[in-house]
Amino acid sequence: MRVDGEALLLSLLNSTPVVAGRPTDELGDDGRAGPWFAANGVPDGDADRREVRRARDLLQAVVRGAEPPSALGPVLAGVVSRASVDDSGVTWEVDADGARGAVVAAVLAWDAVRRGRPGRLRACANDECARFLLDRSKSNNARWCSMAACGNKLKARRHYRRVREGAGEGSTGDGSAGAAG
Ligand SMILES: [Zn+2]
Repeated sequence: MRVDGEALLLSLLNSTPVVAGRPTDELGDDGRAGPWFAANGVPDGDADRREVRRARDLLQAVVRGAEPPSALGPVLAGVVSRASVDDSGVTWEVDADGARGAVVAAVLAWDAVRRGRPGRLRACANDECARFLLDRSKSNNARWCSMAACGNKLKARRHYRRVREGAGEGSTGDGSAGAAG
Protein backbone atom coordinates (compact mmCIF):
# COMPACT_ATOMS: atom_id res chain seq x y z
CA MET A 1 0.00 0.00 0.00
CA ARG A 2 1.34 3.43 -0.97
CA VAL A 3 0.30 6.19 1.38
CA ASP A 4 1.05 9.87 1.48
CA GLY A 5 2.70 9.79 4.87
CA GLU A 6 2.72 13.55 5.34
CA ALA A 7 -0.99 13.96 4.64
CA LEU A 8 -1.74 11.04 6.89
CA LEU A 9 0.48 12.46 9.63
CA LEU A 10 -1.41 15.75 9.62
CA SER A 11 -4.75 14.05 9.43
CA LEU A 12 -3.78 11.93 12.43
CA LEU A 13 -2.42 14.83 14.47
CA ASN A 14 -5.53 16.87 13.72
CA SER A 15 -8.03 14.18 14.58
CA THR A 16 -8.82 15.63 18.01
CA PRO A 17 -10.14 19.10 17.14
CA VAL A 18 -11.83 21.30 19.70
CA VAL A 19 -15.27 22.01 18.31
CA ALA A 20 -17.34 24.73 19.93
CA GLY A 21 -15.12 24.61 23.00
CA ARG A 22 -15.29 20.83 23.30
CA PRO A 23 -12.49 18.35 22.64
CA THR A 24 -13.61 15.77 20.09
CA ASP A 25 -12.05 12.62 18.68
CA GLU A 26 -12.47 11.74 15.04
CA LEU A 27 -11.09 8.31 15.82
CA GLY A 28 -13.59 7.78 18.60
CA ASP A 29 -16.15 5.02 18.70
CA ASP A 30 -19.09 7.38 18.38
CA GLY A 31 -19.51 6.63 14.71
CA ARG A 32 -16.98 9.06 13.38
CA ALA A 33 -14.00 6.75 13.14
CA GLY A 34 -15.44 4.97 10.11
CA PRO A 35 -15.42 8.06 7.89
CA TRP A 36 -11.92 9.01 9.07
CA PHE A 37 -10.52 5.60 8.20
CA ALA A 38 -12.31 5.60 4.85
CA ALA A 39 -11.17 9.13 3.98
CA ASN A 40 -7.57 8.30 4.81
CA GLY A 41 -7.55 4.89 3.15
CA VAL A 42 -6.64 3.10 6.35
CA PRO A 43 -8.07 -0.38 7.01
CA ASP A 44 -10.70 -0.21 9.73
CA GLY A 45 -11.12 -2.89 12.34
CA ASP A 46 -10.99 -3.02 16.13
CA ALA A 47 -7.28 -3.79 16.23
CA ASP A 48 -6.62 -1.22 13.50
CA ARG A 49 -8.38 1.47 15.50
CA ARG A 50 -6.38 0.65 18.61
CA GLU A 51 -3.17 0.76 16.64
CA VAL A 52 -3.99 4.06 14.96
CA ARG A 53 -5.19 5.76 18.15
CA ARG A 54 -2.09 4.72 20.03
CA ALA A 55 0.16 6.06 17.28
CA ARG A 56 -1.88 9.27 17.13
CA ASP A 57 -1.64 9.86 20.88
CA LEU A 58 2.11 9.27 20.85
CA LEU A 59 2.73 11.47 17.82
CA GLN A 60 0.74 14.31 19.35
CA ALA A 61 2.68 14.04 22.61
CA VAL A 62 6.03 13.95 20.81
CA VAL A 63 5.24 16.89 18.54
CA ARG A 64 4.07 18.88 21.57
CA GLY A 65 7.31 18.01 23.33
CA ALA A 66 5.48 16.21 26.13
CA GLU A 67 7.24 12.96 25.23
CA PRO A 68 10.69 12.31 23.75
CA PRO A 69 10.87 10.85 20.23
CA SER A 70 11.84 7.50 21.72
CA ALA A 71 8.25 7.22 22.99
CA LEU A 72 7.35 6.22 19.43
CA GLY A 73 9.31 3.00 19.85
CA PRO A 74 6.26 0.77 20.29
CA VAL A 75 4.79 2.00 17.00
CA LEU A 76 7.88 0.82 15.15
CA ALA A 77 8.53 -2.36 17.12
CA GLY A 78 9.22 -5.26 14.79
CA VAL A 79 8.95 -3.18 11.63
CA VAL A 80 11.31 -4.34 8.90
CA SER A 81 12.20 -3.08 5.46
CA ARG A 82 12.53 -5.22 2.38
CA ALA A 83 15.05 -4.53 -0.31
CA SER A 84 14.44 -4.88 -3.99
CA VAL A 85 16.56 -3.97 -6.95
CA ASP A 86 15.82 -2.99 -10.52
CA ASP A 87 17.67 -1.11 -13.23
CA SER A 88 17.38 2.17 -11.31
CA GLY A 89 18.96 0.73 -8.18
CA VAL A 90 18.04 -0.56 -4.76
CA THR A 91 14.79 0.37 -3.06
CA TRP A 92 13.94 -0.26 0.57
CA GLU A 93 10.28 -0.56 1.36
CA VAL A 94 8.67 -0.94 4.76
CA ASP A 95 7.15 -4.36 5.05
CA ALA A 96 3.97 -3.60 6.97
CA ASP A 97 0.42 -3.56 5.77
CA GLY A 98 -2.96 -2.48 7.00
CA ALA A 99 -3.18 0.06 9.77
CA ARG A 100 0.37 -0.81 10.78
CA GLY A 101 1.66 0.26 7.41
CA ALA A 102 -0.26 3.50 7.71
CA VAL A 103 1.00 4.46 11.16
CA VAL A 104 4.55 3.54 10.20
CA ALA A 105 4.21 5.79 7.14
CA ALA A 106 3.02 8.61 9.42
CA VAL A 107 5.95 8.13 11.79
CA LEU A 108 8.40 8.09 8.88
CA ALA A 109 6.84 11.31 7.59
CA TRP A 110 7.19 12.87 11.04
CA ASP A 111 10.85 11.87 11.06
CA ALA A 112 11.45 13.22 7.56
CA VAL A 113 9.90 16.58 8.51
CA ARG A 114 11.87 16.74 11.72
CA ARG A 115 15.15 16.14 9.92
CA GLY A 116 14.50 18.02 6.72
CA ARG A 117 12.42 20.91 8.03
CA PRO A 118 13.14 21.12 11.78
CA GLY A 119 10.64 23.12 13.82
CA ARG A 120 8.11 23.28 11.01
CA LEU A 121 5.65 20.86 12.52
CA ARG A 122 4.12 22.26 15.66
CA ALA A 123 1.02 22.69 17.72
CA CYS A 124 -1.23 25.65 16.97
CA ALA A 125 -0.30 28.61 19.17
CA ASN A 126 -3.89 28.88 20.30
CA ASP A 127 -3.85 26.80 23.46
CA GLU A 128 -7.58 26.30 23.21
CA CYS A 129 -7.02 24.61 19.87
CA ALA A 130 -5.79 21.05 19.59
CA ARG A 131 -4.68 21.22 15.98
CA PHE A 132 -1.22 21.16 14.49
CA LEU A 133 0.35 22.90 11.56
CA LEU A 134 3.12 22.14 9.13
CA ASP A 135 4.56 25.52 8.29
CA ARG A 136 5.39 25.67 4.59
CA SER A 137 5.93 29.44 4.51
CA LYS A 138 9.28 30.92 3.60
CA SER A 139 9.51 32.92 6.79
CA ASN A 140 8.57 29.97 9.02
CA ASN A 141 6.54 32.17 11.33
CA ALA A 142 3.07 30.71 10.97
CA ARG A 143 1.57 30.21 14.38
CA TRP A 144 -1.99 29.15 13.77
CA CYS A 145 -3.54 26.05 12.29
CA SER A 146 -5.58 28.51 10.28
CA MET A 147 -5.84 32.27 10.33
CA ALA A 148 -9.62 32.09 10.12
CA ALA A 149 -10.06 29.61 12.95
CA CYS A 150 -7.42 30.77 15.40
CA GLY A 151 -5.25 33.61 14.14
CA ASN A 152 -7.83 36.33 13.98
CA LYS A 153 -9.33 35.35 17.29
CA LEU A 154 -6.02 35.48 19.13
CA LYS A 155 -4.82 38.62 17.43
CA ALA A 156 -7.95 40.37 18.58
CA ARG A 157 -7.49 39.05 22.09
CA ARG A 158 -3.86 40.14 22.24
CA HIS A 159 -4.71 43.55 20.91
CA TYR A 160 -7.37 43.94 23.57
CA ARG A 161 -4.91 42.89 26.28
CA ARG A 162 -2.26 45.30 25.06
CA VAL A 163 -4.71 48.16 25.01
CA ARG A 164 -5.92 47.29 28.48
CA GLU A 165 -2.43 46.94 29.99
CA GLY A 166 -1.19 50.09 28.35
CA ALA A 167 2.56 50.61 28.04
CA GLY A 168 3.25 49.34 31.55
CA GLU A 169 6.10 46.88 31.10
CA GLY A 170 9.29 48.38 29.77
CA SER A 171 11.89 45.60 29.63
CA THR A 172 12.30 43.11 26.81
CA GLY A 173 10.21 42.55 23.73
CA ASP A 174 6.77 41.14 23.54
CA GLY A 175 6.48 38.09 25.76
CA SER A 176 3.30 36.84 24.20
CA ALA A 177 2.03 33.32 23.76
CA GLY A 178 5.04 31.49 22.27
CA ALA A 179 3.93 28.12 23.60
CA ALA A 180 6.88 25.92 22.67
CA GLY A 181 10.44 26.43 21.51
ZN1 LIG B 1 -5.66 26.46 15.85
